[in-house]
Amino acid sequence: MSKSQFGIIGLGVMGKSLSLNGAEKGIKLSVYNRIEGDEASIVHDFITEHENLKNILGFSNMEAFVSSIEQPRKILMMVKAGPVVDAVINQISDLLDANDMLIDGGNSHFLDTQKRYAKLQKKQIHYIGCGVSGGEEGARKGPSLMPGGNQESYKLVAPILEMIAAKDKNNNPCCGFIGTDGAGHFVKMIHNGIEYSEMQLLAELYAMMSLHMTNEAISAVFTNWNKTDLSSYLLEITAEILLKKEGDQYIIDSILDKAGNKGTGCWSSKTALDLGVPTTMMTSAVFARYVSSFKEKRVALSNLVATKTLKLEIPDMSIIEKAYRFARIINHHQGFQLIQEASKEHQWNINLSELARIWTNGCIIRSELMQQLSGLFKLQQAIFEDEAILKILSNSELAISEFIQSAIKNRIALDTFWSAHNYWISMTTERLPAHLIQAQRDYFGAHTYQKIDVPASQFFHTNWQR
Ligand code: NDP
Repeated sequence: MSKSQFGIIGLGVMGKSLSLNGAEKGIKLSVYNRIEGDEASIVHDFITEHENLKNILGFSNMEAFVSSIEQPRKILMMVKAGPVVDAVINQISDLLDANDMLIDGGNSHFLDTQKRYAKLQKKQIHYIGCGVSGGEEGARKGPSLMPGGNQESYKLVAPILEMIAAKDKNNNPCCGFIGTDGAGHFVKMIHNGIEYSEMQLLAELYAMMSLHMTNEAISAVFTNWNKTDLSSYLLEITAEILLKKEGDQYIIDSILDKAGNKGTGCWSSKTALDLGVPTTMMTSAVFARYVSSFKEKRVALSNLVATKTLKLEIPDMSIIEKAYRFARIINHHQGFQLIQEASKEHQWNINLSELARIWTNGCIIRSELMQQLSGLFKLQQAIFEDEAILKILSNSELAISEFIQSAIKNRIALDTFWSAHNYWISMTTERLPAHLIQAQRDYFGAHTYQKIDVPASQFFHTNWQR
């Protein structure tokens, strides 16, 4: 029997979908899942269910799985991130030969990927940390893939990864080498951070619009926006979500208002804090999810305070639309700036234009704006360097301010819109009150300060109490 071209470990949501995607494209595959608890028949069931696909072989025995793949082997791990990845690597690495390749397609932390990359390099095993985005449907039809590791390793597996990836508007694969060691997993992490803010912005829009509009009316607005420069996958699915009913009831109205998370937004924010990059929007979106999780406390406190959400007038749709455009641009500016700073720090040399192109299809943050950014980054290093974008932001400043003021009057929290607005105001303000912070630091800690119109190399200290 001829050997398989590619192996996949883990038949969970993503592993199954990627296996079907690859098999349908004619790749000869071996798939493996451990035997655990009541899932003993997971591999058998998967193969039986898809017996029409003759090019998939199923295994519950790791040795047999590894032997079934042609050398040098290329194996994708699609398992839970964290210690499970190390456990699988430990289990498989002694079965592999020099020049074989392991790819981690899960949401691993990039620092873990860097360590695993170094460890496997010593064993002469190629290691690729590959960000995968698009959820179950993307994995099935064509995800956006962000492989990191080294160029030579990537070239060996590029034909397979590029075959299963989504295609951009020019029919090029939404996949490309991102950078060395953990770069692929890093950009996937920031992709998720950007996604957190994009989702929170839509939730905040919904909170405001639903004061006076039905789910159907809001959905209609989102559907219209989706025909413009504001179009995005998240906008499109939100318009659909708002219309979905179970019997007579909109499903959205029956969902408990506690947002979950799997940690990638938190990791992105922590990294931004470490690198000194103000990604205020994704961080406020993470905190907004945390605050939502305190449902019981929120209910108790809401009964203790007299002020309630009001139903005062909200701005016109044209104002809200401008505020949304403004906030999305700031969000993308912050996310890409974080990638750029990390790229410098880790010497990844990430090509932002190529990354934006990879994110134009298959992934959750695909959008018309992303399409524009793939062009913008060919000419500029940062979104704020683009004059046309600065003009849009300046021209929308009053709109977002009006939107926020209306939210205050109605007692609606707009964490992420506020972050966007504050960031813009601060970044475009010549003199911030940070000189007072410097004076305070010098007062209690003799941290010194610099002076206006004196060379920055000179530092001063004052005995403030005398
Ligand atoms: P699932 O929970 O559906 O599947 C997890 C897989 O990991 C299963 O095959 C499971 O096997 C296996 N696994 C869990 N624990 C162990 C273990 N101790 N030893 C061996 N195998 C184990 O997860 P997903 O498919 O959704 O996600 C897989 C990875 O992809 C994760 O890192 C996730 O963050 C990432 N990801 C997920 C996306 C999504 O939309 N779902 C999108 C992009 C990335 P078993 O069934 O036997 O428990």
